Amino acid sequence: MTRIEQRAHILKLAKDMGVRISLGHTNRSHMYEKHIQIDSVIKNDKDYAGALHELGHQANRDKDTMSYKLRFLLDPESKEIYPERLKHEIEAWAWAKRNAIEWNEEMEQEYISAFSSYIHGALHAYGNLDDLLKGIATLKGS
Ligand SMILES: [Zn+2]
Repeated sequence: MTRIEQRAHILKLAKDMGVRISLGHTNRSHMYEKHIQIDSVIKNDKDYAGALHELGHQANRDKDTMSYKLRFLLDPESKEIYPERLKHEIEAWAWAKRNAIEWNEEMEQEYISAFSSYIHGALHAYGNLDDLLKGIATLKGS
């Protein structure tokens, strides 16, 4: 798969979903708008995976409850929000993998790297792994 094909794929998915894409310092998906921000024009496989992941957040937006959105806005790094936040991240990566034209080792590494940072943040908020795992276990329907 060429870089051009990757770019065209991201643009097509975004267009079909009605999602606007802008360039910025980091990758992110806007919670209240059909809008994602990506930090490059897809120069490598990691960028492609990252853009798909942000589109995954958009595709799963209806799963974000109002309570989650409010708590996220108040403090995205809070202990209380992490279990649900991790679930959303996993779901957005699952969507990315399902919708990728091709998923390779480089893309998998991007997933692992991003996920490691969420786990790091969650562990920082919780202070220990056991409590984090208990928090995750309290999630409904997971
Ligand atoms: Zn994410």
